Amino acid sequence: MNRALMPVAEALTRVLADARPLPAETVPLDEARGRVLTEDLNALRTQPPAAVSAMDGYAVRAADIAQAPVKLKLIGEVAAGHPFDGEVKAGQAARIFTGGVMPAGTDTVVIQELTAREGDLVTIQKATPKGRNVRDRGIDFAQGQSLLRKGRHLTDRDLMLAAAMNYPTLSVHRRPKVAVLGTGDELVAPGSAPAAGEIVYSNGFALMAMARNEGAEVSDLGIAHDRVEDIAAAVRRARDWGADILLTSGGASVGEHDLVQRALASEGLDLSFWRVALRPGRPMMHGRLNGMQVLGVPGNPVSSYVCAFLFLVPLIRRLTGRDDTERVPESARLGHDVPANDERADYMRATLSIGPEGLVATPLPNQDSSLMAPLAKADCLLIREPNAPAASSGSHCVILKLAL
Ligand code: AMP
Ligand code: MG
Repeated sequence: MNRALMPVAEALTRVLADARPLPAETVPLDEARGRVLTEDLNALRTQPPAAVSAMDGYAVRAADIAQAPVKLKLIGEVAAGHPFDGEVKAGQAARIFTGGVMPAGTDTVVIQELTAREGDLVTIQKATPKGRNVRDRGIDFAQGQSLLRKGRHLTDRDLMLAAAMNYPTLSVHRRPKVAVLGTGDELVAPGSAPAAGEIVYSNGFALMAMARNEGAEVSDLGIAHDRVEDIAAAVRRARDWGADILLTSGGASVGEHDLVQRALASEGLDLSFWRVALRPGRPMMHGRLNGMQVLGVPGNPVSSYVCAFLFLVPLIRRLTGRDDTERVPESARLGHDVPANDERADYMRATLSIGPEGLVATPLPNQDSSLMAPLAKADCLLIREPNAPAASSGSHCVILKLAL
């Protein structure tokens, strides 16, 4: 039986095996955060395009003010967006404001605090070294410079830079379309009045939010009853919508009411695995249905979450073109003793605190896969490898932080 359980790493390799970044599309800058560039971006302009003042003050020739105090004649004024055409000659100066283009002939800005003005004369009270308070042309970047590379996962700062480089739109990988389906006769929507035997459909809300947080476009397929035809109809809806990924929850094990695999098979699923050496989440399934990747996670809320965290997130990241598909566990110290593990990798829900030697991960007392309250409280998953020996408080452990 153990041989039928697939190690987590191998399961992930299979999920990602033929997943490729989706084709490019052009989006306005304002919608590009979190998207991934499909090409290198070369600056379309030089920034700043001319030497400009970094302060409010007077643009002067440094040679003129070496022997301050000295009086200079004001021959013009420069503000951001309003350059001054004339040339500042020996003995002259121009009033200048931050962002104003340095007039011809000037090389230095004296801040206004070091000056005194009377009409069209200004007294420079203190020498200012040559070049002070001037931002040279191109100090930020030069036209043609490649500043954001293909594969870049765009941050808010990158959008600022891309705008400054003069790009109104960017070419990024299309968002994956993720259809999320809950299954179970017992499930009713939050806010309804559950009848005897009914519970509230909950796990999909975390799964949809997780998918969106990774940049996916989500379609909520709602709840299918435990009937092959009902589930198959939802699968067809996912396909008709053009889902790249169908995520089902519940009905994934081998009980009489666990019909997801049968429904998927009737629609032509090419099954890749359906049991993983994982706790929580053994009855985790993956396959392909035409162009659609199918992940079937168990119904227990914690199992569904852990499986989506481990398999859905990397898959979405791969499709969006990100190169950080695989998360690197961090190290921490155990907050209390943990027993020896069995043959399944255990992803224990744990809180994090800071101890004298760094992060401390303390497993929550009850690790049952149905418990949503401790899951919400957890800061991380504490990874226990298959067959790991018992470990005592204070010893090293590895964790994956959960997203906020
Ligand atoms: P299943 O995987 O369908 O056997 O479900 C396992 C357990 O998880 C059962 O107790 C279900 O009632 C519960 N469950 C299944 N789907 C959901 C869901 N979407 N939200 C909350 N609980 C669920
Ligand atoms: Mg069920």
